Amino acid sequence: MISDAIFADSFPTLQQKIGGKKLIYLDSAATTQKPQCVIDAVTHFYEHDNANIHRGVHTLSQRATQAYENARVQIANLLHAPRHEEIIFLRGATEAINLVAQAYARPRIGENDVILITEMEHHSNIVPWQLVCEQTGASLEVVPICDNGSINLEAYKAMLSEEVAIVSMTHVSNAIGTINPVKEMCALAKAVGATSVVDGAQATGHMDVDVEDISCDFYAISGHKMFGPTGIGCLFGRYDVLQEMEPWQGGGDMILSVSFEETTWNEVPFKFEAGTPNIAGAIGLGAAVTFIQELGYDNISTLEHELLVYGTTTLGAIDGVTIIGTAPSKASVIAFTVDGVHPHDVGTILDHAGVAIRTGNHCAEPLMKSFGLNATCRASFSIYNTKDDVDKLAVAVKDAIRMLG
Ligand code: PMP
Repeated sequence: MISDAIFADSFPTLQQKIGGKKLIYLDSAATTQKPQCVIDAVTHFYEHDNANIHRGVHTLSQRATQAYENARVQIANLLHAPRHEEIIFLRGATEAINLVAQAYARPRIGENDVILITEMEHHSNIVPWQLVCEQTGASLEVVPICDNGSINLEAYKAMLSEEVAIVSMTHVSNAIGTINPVKEMCALAKAVGATSVVDGAQATGHMDVDVEDISCDFYAISGHKMFGPTGIGCLFGRYDVLQEMEPWQGGGDMILSVSFEETTWNEVPFKFEAGTPNIAGAIGLGAAVTFIQELGYDNISTLEHELLVYGTTTLGAIDGVTIIGTAPSKASVIAFTVDGVHPHDVGTILDHAGVAIRTGNHCAEPLMKSFGLNATCRASFSIYNTKDDVDKLAVAVKDAIRMLG
């Protein structure tokens, strides 16, 4: 079990009051708070090792390179990737999906091809594919969800055909918490010859992800949603696939040699890391990986599941509250609406009580529409939350109903 003591001083941002009330942070699906060890790793880099990587013989450059490359190995281990070269450092999950869309999909697909996504995708896993469809004439098709927010697997199976070139799905929905059966979905995609892309932005902060077991071609992760810094994330891509691909962006570090007549590419993964990367971010993400591994995914999921169950029961028992998304397999995200009160007003009243939730469409406008909504309130939990936080949320929601409902 995770003991409270571990967290006493681990998260500096959580040691504050908002409007005189203890901060209750329930917006981890937007970004997690950062443990002291991650802040220290970033600070240490800038205070002691700051230098550019890969091209310096001096000590600082070597230290920086070593730390950056160590982080790559750590992430490969966390994702159970067979080779560390299969991890590309990027700005985040959004950039990772855009890389796949532009450098993998765009040169390979045409007007007879179909790209399949699901109705519960984040805009970051919709818009890059819309762009590719515009550029190539391919069609975008959308797998519907069931009323409870689970993926409609029967519809998915029926939509798979030899025309489907790419299937891109979220592992965990940021808006309603549904955990998709990605292993099964990737196997079904493979059976029709489609390439599979998994948006894992909401998964790696909460559960053990094994890209080999899932057997996907690409898996995108987001550092800031797993206790790491903002502006850093990764793409896992199968080594043979990455090797076949042309670079996406041109610049320093992704080349072997440049002349005005001909330029040759560096090897994978550097071929996809043009320019000076977010070195400190990658090192901070490495520290976040150590933090997660020390806690253990079993402990993380047990704690978060308890909060999900307790939160669902507690909020669900409040008159006027409707929980949106009740799939049997869910991560610790509770989306809800309050009768007669706009989500933004709920959010503002909660903020006065020190409770930080997110309100709006959660960058999943089509999903909101499928529930007939424009916006919801969303409480999302992480390891630093407690049942007491859920109780405070419930009290604040009841106050909002009393004031505005
Ligand atoms: N996909 C999902 C499901 C997300 O929740 C997010 C972030 N809200 C993203 C993609 C984009 O991730 P990033 O911020 O790393 O670009």
